[in-house]
Amino acid sequence: MTSLRSDAFVLSRSALTESSWIVCLLTRREGKMRAVAKGARRTKSPFRGALEPLNRVRVEISLREGRDLGTLMSADLEESALDLFGRWPAAGILLAVVEVLDRGLAEHSTEEETYRLVGAVLDSMRSGVSPALAWLYFASWFLRLHGVLGRPGRCAHCGAAKETGHFDAGAGGWICRECARSRLEQGIDVSSATREALGDVFRLSLPGLAARSPGPEALKGLKAVVYLALVSYLGRPLASGDHVSG
Ligand SMILES: [Zn+2]
Repeated sequence: MTSLRSDAFVLSRSALTESSWIVCLLTRREGKMRAVAKGARRTKSPFRGALEPLNRVRVEISLREGRDLGTLMSADLEESALDLFGRWPAAGILLAVVEVLDRGLAEHSTEEETYRLVGAVLDSMRSGVSPALAWLYFASWFLRLHGVLGRPGRCAHCGAAKETGHFDAGAGGWICRECARSRLEQGIDVSSATREALGDVFRLSLPGLAARSPGPEALKGLKAVVYLALVSYLGRPLASGDHVSG
């Protein structure tokens, strides 16, 4: 039996018994993990209020050799996300963030950068960055960290170093005009303004990106690109996609 202490974001939970939850967490040290929170559904549980989506908590998880499912020993609330879930459209964006993390991360694989990304996105939303921009920043970086969305520059299909103004997840990402023609209506043409905005996403902090305030057309294109890339990465559309689809 070993025990893990780590900061974590709560992702989701499901009922295990009448009194217990299975909680899914993004821990700073071990990535995504699931643990049983015994008695957490009781009114007087010490977990009460801590295990809400995107709350940042300090957890202790007890792990048994050879078993993926741990036991949550304690969860101390460090920062609640209730303030953000009480606003619209921030809440809709956060539901999509939770869904991407819940479905898009493998268990027990270190995700320090993803953990920091989530913290940066929540902090920026609290300090007034628009939820729509926060979503684009989160989704672009999540996809980049998981090898799906790089900077445009080299054709993923033929390998040529030429202008790649077309995004086609099925062909590996950014492709050139000639390859796009041979792929018959797959993916989308992406304007240079949108490609530039993506470059800014990868170059600037989220508050820095907000200060630069990319134009609506560029953002609309970026919204479509990240949505298509996410659907391809996750294997099916986002259930919480209404707020974030192109
Ligand atoms: Zn090509």
